[in-house]
Amino acid sequence: MLDRLLSENDCAECKLCCNFYEGEFWEVPVIDDDLAQLISGKYDFNLIGDNRVFKLNRDEKGLYFCPALDKNGCKLGDDRPFDCKLWPFRAMKLGEFIVITVSPLCKKVGEKTLCELSEFVGSQLTDKIKARVLKYPAHIKDYVHSYPILKVL
Ligand code: SF4
Repeated sequence: MLDRLLSENDCAECKLCCNFYEGEFWEVPVIDDDLAQLISGKYDFNLIGDNRVFKLNRDEKGLYFCPALDKNGCKLGDDRPFDCKLWPFRAMKLGEFIVITVSPLCKKVGEKTLCELSEFVGSQLTDKIKARVLKYPAHIKDYVHSYPILKVL
């Protein structure tokens, strides 16, 4: 979905979006019904919570890791959750609006200007995000002030 912006190598080398501090649990990808079914038949991961998220592994420094992460990247490949395919972009609720934002943490995508990212979102992502959040609203996060807004849905 983000092929024009991020290569598989960029993501495999970085893995930033696959580990979380305690204040970042809202970023843990939610698992939709279809993926939950696939995971239960094909993978050995535990899902928890109403929106079904992976039960994370904690290291000795207090950093939590997605259990699907290994040294080569994501074990789920093309089966990975929509939130992961979309990151560093996010659908967020701001008042009565749903906005598409970008995380300031992804260094590779951060090399682009906000203008370039807005154009990319408008031409490549808006329709897909709209269709997806209508079907599965749990993808919509609360707005975070450090996330620049690229588009109002
Ligand atoms: S499912 Fe894959 S891409 Fe998503 S957080 Fe886990 S390891 Fe990373």
